[in-house]
Amino acid sequence: MYNLDTSKCIQTEPAFCKAVCPFGLDVPDFIKKLQRGQFNSAYQVYADTVGFPEIIARLCPALCHDACIRVKVDASIDLHLLEQACVRYADRREPPAYNLPARGKRIAVIGAGLCGLSCALRLVRKGYTVDVYERKAYIGGQLWDLLPPEAFLPDIERQLANTCYELHLNYEIKSLSVLGSYDAIFISTDPNGQFSGKYQQEQGVFFKNLSVGLGPVVAAAHGFSIALEIEAYLKTGIMFSYENRTCKTRLCMNEREIKSQPKVQAGEDGFTSEQAQKEALRCMACSCNACKHHCDLMAYYQKYPSRIKDEVTGTIYPSADFIHRYATRLIASCMQCGLCKEICPADIDVGGYLNEALAELHRQKALPPVFHEFFLRDMIHANSEESMLCKMPDGVEHCQYLYFPGCQLGASLPAYVTDSYEELRELYPDTALLLRCCGIPAKWAGDYSLYRNMLVQIENSWEKFGRPSVIFGCPNCQNVLLQEFPEMSGQSLYSILADMEIRKSQRGVAAVYDPCAARYDVQTQNDVRQLALRAGYILQPLSHQGTMAQCCSWGGQTAIANPSMVKLVKKRRAGEIEAPYIAYCANCRDVLASTGKACVHILDLLFDLGNAQRNPPNATERRQNRVTLKHTLIQRFWNETSDCACSSAEMLEIPAALRQTLSDRYLLEEDIWAVIQCGEREGIFIEEAVSGARITHKEIGSITCWARYIPLEKGFQLLDGYSHRMQIVEDRHA
Ligand code: SF4
Ligand code: SF4
Ligand code: SF4
Repeated sequence: MYNLDTSKCIQTEPAFCKAVCPFGLDVPDFIKKLQRGQFNSAYQVYADTVGFPEIIARLCPALCHDACIRVKVDASIDLHLLEQACVRYADRREPPAYNLPARGKRIAVIGAGLCGLSCALRLVRKGYTVDVYERKAYIGGQLWDLLPPEAFLPDIERQLANTCYELHLNYEIKSLSVLGSYDAIFISTDPNGQFSGKYQQEQGVFFKNLSVGLGPVVAAAHGFSIALEIEAYLKTGIMFSYENRTCKTRLCMNEREIKSQPKVQAGEDGFTSEQAQKEALRCMACSCNACKHHCDLMAYYQKYPSRIKDEVTGTIYPSADFIHRYATRLIASCMQCGLCKEICPADIDVGGYLNEALAELHRQKALPPVFHEFFLRDMIHANSEESMLCKMPDGVEHCQYLYFPGCQLGASLPAYVTDSYEELRELYPDTALLLRCCGIPAKWAGDYSLYRNMLVQIENSWEKFGRPSVIFGCPNCQNVLLQEFPEMSGQSLYSILADMEIRKSQRGVAAVYDPCAARYDVQTQNDVRQLALRAGYILQPLSHQGTMAQCCSWGGQTAIANPSMVKLVKKRRAGEIEAPYIAYCANCRDVLASTGKACVHILDLLFDLGNAQRNPPNATERRQNRVTLKHTLIQRFWNETSDCACSSAEMLEIPAALRQTLSDRYLLEEDIWAVIQCGEREGIFIEEAVSGARITHKEIGSITCWARYIPLEKGFQLLDGYSHRMQIVEDRHA
């Protein structure tokens, strides 16, 4: 199976500021606390990281300033002032009592500057016993040149209070041999590089030369690194090097998506607590979450690709001990919109991976058939004798063009196809017609052999017509066929009709809703916008359009596999702006209109066919529309007649509200009719004593359908219809 290379993912890469911070301060964590006004919690994070918070907050050279991504948009976050504000407004500044059991190891630190003291601090907090030797009569080293003593001595005392630390002042070490027995020794030279003793590399002795111009803050950070090295040495006997805590980050963010926000101006004494909170809110706590932010599936499951990969792998290859395939529904929830690949800076194609996983589950017969059965039956119906049409204009032997409207355009409104075909025949009289499904539901169901089969049938028709250029009415069909047949040329109906006179003019604001399938079809995106402008609309952009288009929820046909996610997606799409939408995919139009959103298809404007409030047809009506469409086309363009029988309508009364409920439950009226007919024919039903209503059931595909109905003088009245995945096994002799 296709492998998802999540090693390229930059989700865990450090924020730009964190990467250059000598201490590696977790700025996103620190800042999120400040954003909530939690100065004490922010202080804990800060103090834990830098050791001596009051000193570092004053002296930090703020290397993060130039690294902040905001500098490219407005102004860097003033982390230095935020750290000072955090220290000022935190009212619980006592270090937490670590109470770790003593480790029974003794370490000598030579030099009580900020580097040596930082090293000592980290070690005593881990339970080691530390002796600090200082040749001068005071601690602090170069801090005396930079700050008044009251600005640093209390901080040092507070952090080191109540720890296993002993200070030896006026104690010059000329030879390490005078130190006696220590498990490790750290020599921290003064800034002039002077260590009065003799140093030679030996096991357990660590050395830091501070003469290379390190300021006190960077020196303190080095002290922490040495503490890590000592700890690792005491545990393993190996002298590792953690010298450089700053690191490179592979993180990248789209600057165009960063909204400009003015920097908060601090007063002479720095930020007030309100100002600090406001400035913190400008910080984006940078990390890559583009996929989780933009992809509905990842947002719904709150999972990043690496976690998805783990779960998918466990589902595709369940272990002997744990055979529950727990990510099956997740796999079947991908809308195959391709947005993840488009937005991921590391080109990680989760959608492609999930589609492969779906195909693998299908191959293993581990995919619940009910997830896609309804849609596959719909595809088969679209390609059946009842609805499919494959014809050249009379008297034409080779066609220059072939119109491929797709199976959903006519299912939404037959006139979309009849009127557009009429227009095309006027423009290009030798335009043939191929009315059928492109086969994408089979791919979305992971059934690649069925998908190939569909493609072969289409290819045969195309060859038969003389390989004409194809005009597509559906962006999905266009995508599928142009991708699968590189030698096929084609363009969208909406580009072909771009100069057509518009029959329904409008006024007002609207947004063009780009279907995800047209993500890379810039020509059609522009042509549809031009048509909408010519119709009289003022256009408003959507947050996701063009190459960033999001799926309306139809893609992948996930509605049965994950109804709650699909409901959320529809609501989100429809609710983005108040203005009506103009769609150029019939599925987008009907999905959005089903939420009550005002939405027209661009063909509604071109041919004056409907208004934005037109209710989308229900599942049964969609099929009937296809049958009617074939009938109408044959009559209108070929002057032939065909049967257009509508089976159950005369015998089964269904109230309007129940019709919609059946459709919402993905139940066809003809299936319910088959259930009743079967129950009545075989005499298998329960009759309610008081109401006289009958209940019966029948297996249709992998589901059991139920009908509750009342017999009428002629026919039946349906009271309810529903289905489930359980099979009913009856013992008729009991
Ligand atoms: S978009 Fe998602 S998958 Fe891609 S790098 Fe960012 S976190 Fe990783
Ligand atoms: S916005 Fe915040 S997290 Fe991002 S780089 Fe700037 S300070 Fe760091
Ligand atoms: S294809 Fe679409 S729904 Fe699927 S993972 Fe990618 S962005 Fe999400």
